[in-house]
Formats: sequence, C-alpha cells, structure tokens
Amino acid sequence: MRHDAEISIQESKGMNGIYPCLECGRDTSHSVQSIVNSNHFEGLAQFWDHYLTVRCNGCGTVSFCHVSKCSEEEDYDERGQPILVQHKTHYPGFPETWQSQIEHFVEVSRIQELESFQPNRPLDTARLTQMLAELNRSYESHSFLSCIFLIRAILDHVPPIFGLGSFAEIANNYAGGGKSFRESMQHLGNSSRKIADSYLHTRIRPKESLPTKTQVEFRADIDVLVGEVIRILRAKP
Ligand SMILES: [Zn+2]
Repeated sequence: MRHDAEISIQESKGMNGIYPCLECGRDTSHSVQSIVNSNHFEGLAQFWDHYLTVRCNGCGTVSFCHVSKCSEEEDYDERGQPILVQHKTHYPGFPETWQSQIEHFVEVSRIQELESFQPNRPLDTARLTQMLAELNRSYESHSFLSCIFLIRAILDHVPPIFGLGSFAEIANNYAGGGKSFRESMQHLGNSSRKIADSYLHTRIRPKESLPTKTQVEFRADIDVLVGEVIRILRAKP
C-alpha cells in the first residue's frame, strides 16, 4: 500500500462471494472477513485497490484476494455500459497443474460414453450417469457421506443391466466378467454396503464418527463395474 494513498476499512459483515479454496480444490462460497480499500492518483489516473480476507464457508480455510482497478482501463458490460476492468489475484492461488491434479472418482470418459447411449434403449441410463457425475463432484469436494450414499444407490440401481435382480447376484452369479470381476464386485458389495449401512440407518448418538477418504475408496471396483456396464450396453444397441 502506498503512503500517499487514501486508506479505509470497509464494513464486510454478511458479505459473501465465490473465491478459490485450495483446501476444497475448487471455487467455493466464502464469507468476507475484512476489506481494506486504498485509492491514489498517478497524474489524472485514479487507482483503487481492495484487499480482502475471505473464509471458505465449507472448510473454514482463510485466504486473501487483491482486486485492483484503474480509471484509465475501461471495458463495456453486456448492456454496453462502460465499466472498469478488475484485476483479481488470489493468495494462495491454484497451482498451474491443478486441473490435472483433480482426482475423479469415475473417469470422465466413462461418464461421457454412458451419456452417449440413446435414451430410447430398453434401459434408460440417465439416472446412472447423473449419479456417477454427482459421485465425482462429491469426491472432489470431500463430501464423503454423499459418496458412500451414492455408491450404495448405484449398486442398487444397476442389476437389471446385467439381467439380474440384486447386486449380490451380480457379485456371486454373473459369469460375463470372469472371476476377477466377481471378486471385485464381492469386495464392492460387502465393504461398501457395511459402511453405507453404518451411516445410513443409524440414529444420532452422543459421539459420532465421520467417513474418511479411505472409507469411500472404491474407485477401482466402481471403475470395473462401470466398465462392464458399458461393455454390456455397447453389445446391445
Ligand atoms: Zn474450502
């Protein structure tokens, strides 16, 4: 901040905005904790700087944002009104390799292939596709309760694709995927069901436990399941 600038502290109570959260790994809703404003002139040009402290409403992580504007740098909004160009810098910022670091629960290409199947097939994959997409979003935002509920729902949803009535039948009787497929499905069925049941059908207690990332780590098994679903659907156009 320059010594010849006019500095003021702005009331920020109740202010919210979307800012990047490194901990959550995406843009999230933040509450604004404090704003310090500064403005100064250089010749006829006026410069404004806003220094914000923001706190993620999801995980509580505090980060900082610097917004700057200059009276000489104009642009036009969608109605053709002149507006000042805002430059935003966030600290700490996302690393450049951030996008490639995002861990998906389900490969995006798998979801895209499921989406490409026509809706007028004997079985409509719209809900399965949506559940897988929501599973990815929940995993990325560390919403592990949602992950475990969705995994459970997916297992209950897919048996008709295999021509069977329950997931236990897929794990024990489905021959199309071979022995390793059945082993993977038995692990998925037994472990995820136990974990899901412990979170789904339990009344509130004096002391509660929360699922961890490790507890929802069924990525490999879900990938095997979705891969087989796609193989079956490809074979039955
Ligand atoms: Zn966060």
